[in-house]
Amino acid sequence: MKVLILGVNGFIGSHLSEKILTETDWDIYGLDISSEKIGNVIDNPRFHFLEGDIDINKEWIEYHIKKCDVVLPLVAIATPLTYVQDPLRVFELDFEANLAIIKQAVKYRTRVIFPSTSEVYGMCTDDEFNEETSNFILGPTNKQRWIYSCCKQLLDRVLWAHGQKSGFKFSIFRPYNWLGPRLDDIESTKEGSSRVITQFIGDVIHGKPIRLVNGGLQKRCFLYIDDGIDCLLKIIENKDGACDSKIFNIGNPDNNMSIAELADEVKAIFEAHPLAKEHGFSDNIKIEKVTEEEFYGKGYQDVSFRVPSIKNAKETLGWTPKHDFKSAMKLTVDWFIQDYVKKNPGKTKQAA
Ligand code: UDP
Repeated sequence: MKVLILGVNGFIGSHLSEKILTETDWDIYGLDISSEKIGNVIDNPRFHFLEGDIDINKEWIEYHIKKCDVVLPLVAIATPLTYVQDPLRVFELDFEANLAIIKQAVKYRTRVIFPSTSEVYGMCTDDEFNEETSNFILGPTNKQRWIYSCCKQLLDRVLWAHGQKSGFKFSIFRPYNWLGPRLDDIESTKEGSSRVITQFIGDVIHGKPIRLVNGGLQKRCFLYIDDGIDCLLKIIENKDGACDSKIFNIGNPDNNMSIAELADEVKAIFEAHPLAKEHGFSDNIKIEKVTEEEFYGKGYQDVSFRVPSIKNAKETLGWTPKHDFKSAMKLTVDWFIQDYVKKNPGKTKQAA
């Protein structure tokens, strides 16, 4: 199989590439604007990489969509602060650029595996969000946070319509707060443009307080990256076509924790970590409360809980997540501490 991964240097793309190259005989054709996360795979003869941009390298992309069996268009902005601060860029990249890719895939009949998002369900009130029955509940237009959700939802619907119209082959997956090594760049946490777990780790390392937006009672289900990638690999394999026209929530309903509990766990891991102690990162870690407007500005609105039903993934793929909250957290925080120390030898806790 020839697998095209656009955004191959991202969190999901880089982990997926490692897995494909170790567990299958498939070839990967990958494009990304940078390559710092794919050092482990870049020299593999089955990994064919172009450093480029989906807005610029259009001919390369079209050629490879035609040539490959399946395409995963993973290029997207997926950090809430950017939805609020630069919604038009989110629209251009997450919607417009990806729509062009989907149109070409339809033209050449190349199967698409599309990264939707748990954000599509928005403020859904169901105890568990179900791919077939749950409603999508988004806030008003002036709450720009929802532009990401809305872009992804519309592309899900475009794919669905092509499947219905012509039997076009696609699968959609919806990650629920995946975490693990290489999630975000720790330096981006200085501007607050990172997902919560890396934001907290970056805050501690940079000597800033951990901030709980609106008190931190909101909950998320955290899934360790290796579990997500196991599931994704099964979707790409698509045994007996079982994943065609299917949508899969990929999350861990058992790891349903409040953001305040997440902060406590980050603090506890730092305080017990020898390398963190040695570099002074674990001294005097503060946790404080902020309002959503202080943290994000005006266009933000939060989701208070988000639990996936993973019945589809369990029944269709025989998949269940393996990592509990504590092990997922430990592996993630440990990796970021080690990586920071490796890249910044001798640096101790920086004053805010
Ligand atoms: N959050 C927080 N402090 C931070 C960053 C995020 O309390 O420094 C909260 C945020 O308001 C949200 C949750 O953590 O309720 C998860 O945020 P994330 O950016 O990871 O993405 P989301 O799950 O909302 O898509």
